Parts: sequence; C-alpha cells; structure tokens
Amino acid sequence: MLTLISGAQRFLPQARGVGDLLIGGGKVLAVADAELATAALPSVDCIDGRGKLLLPGLVDVLTHPCGGGGEGGFANRTDEIRTETFVRAGVTAPVGALGTDSLGRSLEVLYGKVMALRASGLKAFMYSGAYRVPPPTLTGDVARDLYLVDPVIGIGEVAVSDHRGSQPSAEELRRLAAETQLGGILVGAGGTVLVHVGDGDDRLRLLREAIEHSELPARVLFPTHVNRSTALLDEAAEWTLVGGFVDITVSTTPELIAAGDIEAFDALRRLVEAGASPSQITCSSDAGGSLPLYVDGQLKGLTAAEPSVLLGLLMQLHRQDSDLFPLALAAMTVNPAAALGLAGLGQLEVGADADFILVDGDSGIVTDVCCSGRWLLRDGSVCSV
Ligand code: ZN
Repeated sequence: MLTLISGAQRFLPQARGVGDLLIGGGKVLAVADAELATAALPSVDCIDGRGKLLLPGLVDVLTHPCGGGGEGGFANRTDEIRTETFVRAGVTAPVGALGTDSLGRSLEVLYGKVMALRASGLKAFMYSGAYRVPPPTLTGDVARDLYLVDPVIGIGEVAVSDHRGSQPSAEELRRLAAETQLGGILVGAGGTVLVHVGDGDDRLRLLREAIEHSELPARVLFPTHVNRSTALLDEAAEWTLVGGFVDITVSTTPELIAAGDIEAFDALRRLVEAGASPSQITCSSDAGGSLPLYVDGQLKGLTAAEPSVLLGLLMQLHRQDSDLFPLALAAMTVNPAAALGLAGLGQLEVGADADFILVDGDSGIVTDVCCSGRWLLRDGSVCSV
C-alpha cells in the first residue's frame, strides 16, 4: 500500500515548503515539491496535509519509561509512561533510562518496558547502567550489554557533579566510556555514555579530565541537563567545540527557573551566542522524571515530566516565527540520532524509514504519527495494535 501525504508544510528536518511525501513498504519513496502524478499507481491512500506541519518523528534521548524519581523517598516515585503518551507527543524514538533509583527498578524491568514500546510500534531504545558507578548491567559487562541486547545503545544516566551520584573518578568515567564505545563499535551503532550533570560546582570537569588523557573522542561522553546554570551552559558550549554533544532538558518549573534553571529556548540561544556548534545540541524531555510542585511556596508533592514538552517548545518557536525553530527541530531529530550513533534516524529523505508526524499548524496538536510505515495515530485516534 502506498500513502501520499499532500499539501503539508514539510520540515525534513530542513524546511522544504509545501509539497508531497510518498511512502510505501515502511520507507520514504519520494519527496516532491510539485504535485506527484499518482494516477498511474495501483492503489494510493491519500492524506490531506493542508494546514499541517510534517516533521520527522522526534528522538527523545532521555526518558524514564518505567517511571523515575525516588530521590525524596518512596512517595516520590513517578509512574510508568504509556505508549499513547509518547505517540501523542510525536516522539517515535524514546530512549529509556533508569535514573537515581536503580534498586527499586532494574534494567530487566526497563528492558521489558522498552520491548513493550517496540511491540506497540515505537522505535524505543535504552541505556544500560544508571546513576551509579560501577553501573548495573544486564549481562555483567557494559560492552557485552551493547553487543548482545538489541535495544541497549549506551549507558546512562551516569551521575557526576551530584550528591546522589557515586562520585566517580575521571579514571572510572574514562574506563566506562572506553567500554561503552567498544560495544558501540562492535555492533556499528550506539556507544554513548549519557552523563547526568548535577548542580555541583564540578560541572563538566570530570568529562574533560576523562577525555584529555585518553584516545577517546569527546562525543562518547554526552552531558545532559546542561541548562541547569549559565556557568554549566558556557562549559557545554566549549564541550561542543572539542567534538562533544550536549543535551538541554526542556522540562522545568517556575521554581527550578527561580533556582537557576534556564528555559530551553533561552538555553538554545545562549549556546549559539557562545559559539557552540549547532549540530551538536540536542533537547530531551526527561519524561517520567519528578518535578517538584509548590503551592504558595510550600512543597505540595511532585508531578512527572511529560514528553509533550518537546513539541510544546517547537510549536511555540514556530508560532513566534523564531529563528530558533530550525535549531530546535534539529536538536530533537537529526542531532540526537548523531549523538547516539543511530544512523538514518530523525530525517526524512528517499530511502529513510517513514517515521513522521503531522501537527495541526493552529492548535499544535499531533494528528497523525507513522513509525516505519505503521500508523500509530491517524486523524487524532490511536490505531489499535
Ligand atoms: Zn538526570
């Protein structure tokens, strides 16, 4: 069955204007700026994309699909994320991580959840390890996890500059990076350590030390939450100049901003103004991570971060006709694919997997989601498995 999406405003992620996209067999078959002549084709399902944006499915490099939190006790744990939540957020490639609590949740539980997301049609991946060093693994060995367990594409979040982490040394981080890179080399994909950077004064010091006295490229160590402070953002800009990728966390709260967090669009602008390489910046949701909820200055509980913050940011920038829109879209599609060593993901060109979303240009609501040619959302309705 061939499907033609016509008349949508296309970002692949480069802006291509209004035109057509033809898919079949799970792949992109044609990208046409003029109307495609499909009359001679046997059977074509036509979708009217007028008034909609056509974007690659979003790649979210940090999510907690089996829940997160726990740093404030058991009451602080957050719930699992349902497949539909990712689908309606336009995220077709979520990457799952454990996080602070790798005791109450295991990698086996994360693996099961990631495989369930795959069975529902998403291109889900996972990190082995957690905050702790030495990291928990599935097979007893970091490189072996990448080699033998398909959805494992790296390890993370490994915590540095944070009181909740294991306070690893540069030597320990270097060894971890080397083992992870080896696993990625052997399978031809992945091989990245996602590094959770806390609010300590060390910031990226350990990453620099780990790379400086080694043969490793900076891209193996991929720091996230770099918009925690302006000092950390400035170090992140420098990290891109030695070849590293950096990840901005889009989820935040007014209280976190008051405490120094920089909102994603401000962080994007500051990174660019500081001379960071635009193709080495990514944005993730930290979905499932816990966010403090304050009422009248009192901590009243916690909410969980949502994957929908990514599209929320994109549509905000699109409506404002902001020059940051192309940068933000790349930071949620091609750039994270490059950061994680997942070739071909996050872009729509002839021969690529048909992973795309349609978004209503006025409401900003995702109306259609297609992943490897399989419809997960059609005209606002979730498609049955
Ligand atoms: Zn984190």
